[in-house]
Amino acid sequence: MAVYEREREEMVDRLVASGYLKSPRVVEAMKKVPRHLFVPEDVAASAYYDYPLPIGAGQTISAPHMVAMMCDALGLEEGQKVLEVGAGSGYHACVVAEVVKREVVAMERIERLAVRARENIARAGYGNIRVIVGDGTRGYAEGAPYDRILVTAGAPDVPEPLIEQLVAGGRLLIPVGEMYVQHLLLVTKGENGVEKRALGGCMFVPLVGEHGW
Ligand code: SAM
Repeated sequence: MAVYEREREEMVDRLVASGYLKSPRVVEAMKKVPRHLFVPEDVAASAYYDYPLPIGAGQTISAPHMVAMMCDALGLEEGQKVLEVGAGSGYHACVVAEVVKREVVAMERIERLAVRARENIARAGYGNIRVIVGDGTRGYAEGAPYDRILVTAGAPDVPEPLIEQLVAGGRLLIPVGEMYVQHLLLVTKGENGVEKRALGGCMFVPLVGEHGW
């Protein structure tokens, strides 16, 4: 266990040194959340390398630098209400929950991944993440509006329901583009519509659903 702790600390230090991670709140959160508990046992030894890992059902846990960059770009702060689309292993939702210190809603379309995510989250000691099975391209109206929405799968375009479920002044971060190559789009909802800013290239698994692929 102490080995994992040291590896985690070193991984986060490398993310800071390479400029991927800037927010002190996110640094603290990533130093706490035990990524090795969110991946299958046979790849746990690689949990603190900076790359995606398989989590079953053809899906992946995102690379740590992507988790770091997305949390930074969202401008997460304590008290914000957050929706994640693409719970996967549950790891990213825990990092977000560490920063906002309130319940995070995380949606996952593949039921067996959602079940495992709940187990991972409980094993890591988090009680404030609600994993919902369903098509996240429709958002989760029951919990809306959200201060921040992050989508961790690549979409052909920004799903309209997600913009609708954002508060005025809220931010949505989503990979948009082709099925396996996208750019990370930061969408800010203003008084007079939305503003979109491309933050750089990325590669995510496809967002599958009514407003996705
Ligand atoms: N954030 C995750 C983590 O921390 O492990 C990694 C997410 S993985 C890159 C993308 C996830 O999005 C997959 O688990 C996939 O099943 C899920 N997904 C794809 N389309 C979805 C949809 N419409 N609604 C909810 N989840 C979806």
